[in-house]
Amino acid sequence: MNTHAKPSKLIKGATGDWEIVVGMEIHAQVTSHSKLFSGASTAFGAEPNSHVSLVDAAMPGMLPVINEECVRQAIRTGLGLKAQINHRSVFDRKNYFYPDLPQGYQISQFKSPIVGEGEVIVDVSATEQIRVGVERLHLEQDAGKSMHDQSPTESFVDLNRSGVALMEIVSKPDIRSAEEARAYVTKLRTILRYLGTCDGNMEEGSLRADVNVSVRRPGAPLGTRCEIKNVNSIRFIGQAVDVEARRQIAILEDGGKIDQETRLFDPGRGETRSMRSKEEAHDYRYFPDPDLLPLEFDQAYVDALAEGLPELPDEKRARFIAEYGLPSYDAGVLVMERESADYFEDVARGRDAKMAANWVINELFGRLNKEGETIATSPVSAQQLGAIVDLISSATISGKIAKDLFEIVWTEGGDPKELVESRGMKQVTDTGAIEKAVDEIIAANPDKVAQAQAKPTMLGWFVGQVMKQTGGKANPQAVNDMLKQKLGI
Ligand code: MN
Repeated sequence: MNTHAKPSKLIKGATGDWEIVVGMEIHAQVTSHSKLFSGASTAFGAEPNSHVSLVDAAMPGMLPVINEECVRQAIRTGLGLKAQINHRSVFDRKNYFYPDLPQGYQISQFKSPIVGEGEVIVDVSATEQIRVGVERLHLEQDAGKSMHDQSPTESFVDLNRSGVALMEIVSKPDIRSAEEARAYVTKLRTILRYLGTCDGNMEEGSLRADVNVSVRRPGAPLGTRCEIKNVNSIRFIGQAVDVEARRQIAILEDGGKIDQETRLFDPGRGETRSMRSKEEAHDYRYFPDPDLLPLEFDQAYVDALAEGLPELPDEKRARFIAEYGLPSYDAGVLVMERESADYFEDVARGRDAKMAANWVINELFGRLNKEGETIATSPVSAQQLGAIVDLISSATISGKIAKDLFEIVWTEGGDPKELVESRGMKQVTDTGAIEKAVDEIIAANPDKVAQAQAKPTMLGWFVGQVMKQTGGKANPQAVNDMLKQKLGI
């Protein structure tokens, strides 16, 4: 495991170096049509309190019934995290009062979670990978939502979310910087989205992070941690780690000590502030929920789910490197989203894969980002981009003209091959036509000819002129060769 930070990741304090230690609890909403213990819908954005069953409202005498789909999704996630799957797990009551928790307790898993230890391989940068241990994954209910901004004098509660299934994924404290924290959540989100077990939509609250931060002298035992609750964007997670670490270092360097507490990150002010002192597990009086039997299944059940798992990002990346000869970085970028990886493969199949990767990563992703579009809404289909790559490979058009063609297909659509014909974009490989242009340029510029013969780097100027005269359609290699021959350089 990643026990000590590289020197470059240490923070320089006034009294020496400090190391950041981060562990994370991610709450990921399970993708399922109905809630963990009731048949009410999980659809986002409905009228308040329209998706609430008698179980979710905690009416007296109601009994929870486990939703098998949520169990399947938790096991599939565990398999995707290369984790221990526990054939027997127990649901416990975690007791606390909250207006948006009508039961007075949350049904969660405490001592016996459904999934045990696993790991995530995290790509921190193009050249650095780390391993972050997963401590456990357990199933639990989400709470409802209190609304304090609807009226100046009253608060309201919306129970639509109440009872929705969450997977709480607890990491080991293996993260050593804000950058690593961001990369961990990014990778975890990618894995969940590949599996289809959580949509990863952070704006809608489907994925929230509680970030535990502490600092220590390099090599020292773990320091006291503070938990920053419910951070809901990857950028904010990075900011929260940095600000909180700096706050703790300032206190310690002043001779103070860190109080273990729960804090909130305020992105507007760029600071964390105290929310409440940290509860211990015993404050919740956990006990097994008497309404629910222990959850049990056998290995055959797990094996069947393992059989149906899709190819996951790490495997896909390895395959892209081996099968298409892509550099590791390019392969990593392409597998970030399953849809992008599929799109790439549709373009690459039977073609120059490196060229296909360049077009997808540089032209297509670049353009999609600029326009705020995604691969799903791309105006250029994989079939169209493949046709553009074909036209370059067959030397029908140059790379430069291909960019113009890409632009036309993006804005107007159409069949790239037909567009090249109808708009006269074909590359001129006819040496007669190129020779005519070369001769004209040479004849019109005797002074430049003398310069080029003295200084061969002037050749570029001639190439530029010929390309201009031929509307960018001359084959650059043919132009180069002919110019060298005619200029005698
Ligand atoms: Mn939780």
